[in-house]
Amino acid sequence: MFDLSIFCGTSEEPRSYLHTPWIERGGVAATDGHVMVFVESPQMVSGDVKDTTPKAMIGKMDKFLDLEFSGNAHPLSGIDIPKLKCPMCEGSRFLVSTICEDCNGEGEFQHGAHWYSCQECEGDGKNHVAADKGSTNSALCPYCSGIGIKKFADSDPYVKIGEVYVAPNILTRVNTLPNAVLYVGDDPGGSVTFRFDGGRGVLMPLDMRRIKK
Ligand SMILES: [Zn+2]
Ligand SMILES: [Zn+2]
Repeated sequence: MFDLSIFCGTSEEPRSYLHTPWIERGGVAATDGHVMVFVESPQMVSGDVKDTTPKAMIGKMDKFLDLEFSGNAHPLSGIDIPKLKCPMCEGSRFLVSTICEDCNGEGEFQHGAHWYSCQECEGDGKNHVAADKGSTNSALCPYCSGIGIKKFADSDPYVKIGEVYVAPNILTRVNTLPNAVLYVGDDPGGSVTFRFDGGRGVLMPLDMRRIKK
């Protein structure tokens, strides 16, 4: 079974229609705007799936779903992907959160006429500890929306495949798909198609002109 929630927009994504996979062309599509995955059989997808294409996405997927697999084939199993875990849940995808005792969950203190952010909880009002799935009072990590992978920052390592550069958080997710193979052409800015047992997808490489090292 495929869990496509890791390919959806996180809770920080303002386009709420990207938070859930949806039925598209008789299969199921999911995207966060950086990587798109399409599974041919809805029976192979677990979890929430919207039964119609979101209005804003109608007709938008065709150009990606019709892309040819062209360029050089790069099986993902042969690519070294830096492991960048979410710093909050340490990759476990779950957190146990407790009210901060230093500030009683307020996240700040008043001293005289001024307010100060609580150092202990960094103003959050709660302390978070990485947890295993199913442990008491654990919840999906809100920082990574339960993906377990650190969001890409310009200072993170990236992966060069042929002529393109790809963020490790995209590759880590695509690598959960069975026997994924990327197809990389000569255009460093061109979208990269991939296929896996049961479906296909497209990812956007990093724009190296705007990566500040
Ligand atoms: Zn997390
Ligand atoms: Zn606190």
